[in-house]
Formats: sequence, structure tokens, C-alpha cells
Amino acid sequence: MPGGLLTIDLGAIVENWRALDAKTAKTVETGAVVKADAYGLGVAPVGRALQNAGVKTFFVALAAEGVALRQAIGPASRIFIFSGYMRGDESAFNEFDLTPLLNSADHAARFLEARPGEACGLQLDSGMNRLGMEADELTSVMAQISALNPTLIMSHLACADEPDHSQNAAQLTTFNAMTVSLPESRRSFSATGGILLGPAYHMDITRPGIGLYGGDPFAGARPVVTLSLPIIQTRYVEVGESVGYGATWIAKRRSVIATVTGGYADGLIRAIGPNASLYAGDVACPIVGRVSMDLITVDVTDLANVPTSLDILNAKQTVDVLAETAGTIGYEILTSLGNRYQRVYKD
Ligand SMILES: *Cc1c(COP(=O)(O)O)cnc(C)c1O
Repeated sequence: MPGGLLTIDLGAIVENWRALDAKTAKTVETGAVVKADAYGLGVAPVGRALQNAGVKTFFVALAAEGVALRQAIGPASRIFIFSGYMRGDESAFNEFDLTPLLNSADHAARFLEARPGEACGLQLDSGMNRLGMEADELTSVMAQISALNPTLIMSHLACADEPDHSQNAAQLTTFNAMTVSLPESRRSFSATGGILLGPAYHMDITRPGIGLYGGDPFAGARPVVTLSLPIIQTRYVEVGESVGYGATWIAKRRSVIATVTGGYADGLIRAIGPNASLYAGDVACPIVGRVSMDLITVDVTDLANVPTSLDILNAKQTVDVLAETAGTIGYEILTSLGNRYQRVYKD
């Protein structure tokens, strides 16, 4: 039984990277965040496509992700690790030329002992209270700062997707104050949302993730994924009959119901439920009944011709539109996409 067909448009990812790059000055480098398997889309093909397009600096969450990326793209680019210099990751840093973003004095001390003279970066906490050194911890590593000689100093915004949120400017002020007494080094402050906030936020290198993959808050992004689910069978459902677990949907007219492959085990979460549609070309066909583990049932009564498959992600129903029906965000839809799909990459 063929599963769903997930088409990933590498050309669109590259175009999105170029479009985000064009939003900053020529002097600002645009990096790429490819953590979580490039937001679920495949770190090897995505990393190679971005490197070919000109990306020189990549960011991932874990050292293990850095290893997979290094194996895919070769030695040329810099790979930064957001989680820093974690115990147990030492051999990955030694063998795969990864660069930690040190999050604490403890990271800094262990890094200096194990890898003196090697490249590192510092992650500072400017107000999100999630990762990075706060001011007093930074003070405690100042004695070693010339030995560390960080090539990059970064921080992350908590509210960049809300341009009017007062925390954006507050974090900017904090970050600038924290970095003023540090040695000259490149600085990075903005993910996708921060790029859209304007030049004060751009600094030397940006770190877009979701915008590359076609998601909000980059409104101008080109959609990257199409997900087609084959129809296994169709049936007539008579007035008063129900469809699916819990018998939650009851036919009010004689209906044609298509059952497609794909369900919550494939990342099409149950919360998508009856608020979303599947598409036959441009025509929306509502989901009826509950999403099951492997199957979704769809009302195709109004189609003149029932196709062999229906799309759940396309240019109309993007990851953000689908996420909205489930009360979540496009990031979660993307990173949940399952491993039962046949994945096809186009350039
Ligand atoms: C995930 C992440 C990014 C990328 O964020 P997007 O909103 O996907 O652009 C950048 N920096 C850090 C520290 C992150 O954790």
C-alpha cells in the first residue's frame, strides 16, 4: 500500500533563503537553521541545496544533528550547535568540526580544557530565560574571554513574531549592553521574525529557520511542501449513517466518502479534526469524522470526478493554515511530518 507522497521543493527553500537574505544589507550574512532534520524536511538534501545556494553558516540544536549535517555537506561550512558543549558530545566536536555556542561558565571551562584554541561562540540570554549566559555568568567568564576568543556572540528573541511587542526592543537593549565590553566578534540576534523587525536587529549574521521552509511569520515565503494522500476506497454513506471512531459525523445527505492513507501516526494530528479539508486540485473537500492513526475520511460528494489522491498540504492549505485548524503552529506541523511518506525532492 503506497503511503502519502511528500514533495519538498528545494528550489523554493533556496528562493526563500535568497528573499530573506535580500531583506538585510549586503554586509549581513544570512545563515540557515536546519535543526530537527531541517524542520522535518531532511537535513541532507536541504543542507546541500542551501550550501550550493551560498549558505556558509548553519545552525542546529544538537551535536548529533551537526554530525549528520557535516556528513552531508562536507568540510566547507561552519556548523554551530545551539545546545553548546554538552557532556557526552566531546567526540562529535573533535571529529566533525562543530562549533559550540557555549551557554554557561561550565560549558566554557570544559571547552577550554578539552579544545583550547578551537573555534567557539557564546550564547547570551537577553531576556527569554531559556538558553545562554545571563550578565553575571558572562562576568564570571570574562577572565577566560581572550582564551575563548569567540567567533560569534548570539542571543534569541522571545517575541519576534509580534513586531509590536515591547520585549523586542528591551532584549535588543540588553544584548547591546551585554556585548559592549566583549572583544570584537561577529554578533547574531535574529531568526526569521527578527529579520522582519528591521536593521537594528540584523547585526552581522542572521539565523532564519521557518521562513526558509515557507512558514509564518515570513508572509512572502514560497510554500515548500505538498502532501498528497492516496485514496484507498470510496463508499456511499446513506442519510443517518455515521463515519469513523465515535460516530461523530452523521450524513445529512447521501454522501460519497473517500478514505485516504495518512493519519495521526504520520503527524496529521487528531486536533486537525473536522476543521480542515483535503484538496482535489483547487476544490476543498471537508474532513469528516475523526482522524485515525493511519486514515482520514473525506467528503467528496461534490466532486464530479474523484481523483486517485487528495492533497492535505498545498499552496492553498499551507502548513500555517493546517496548523491553525488544529490550534498549533506551522513549525509543529512540519516537524511532525512522519516517516511513512514517500519523499520526493524537486529543485
Ligand atoms: C530555532 C531557532 C532559530 C530559527 O528560528 P525560526 O523562527 O525558525 O526562524 C534561530 N535561533 C535559535 C536560537 C533557534 O532556537
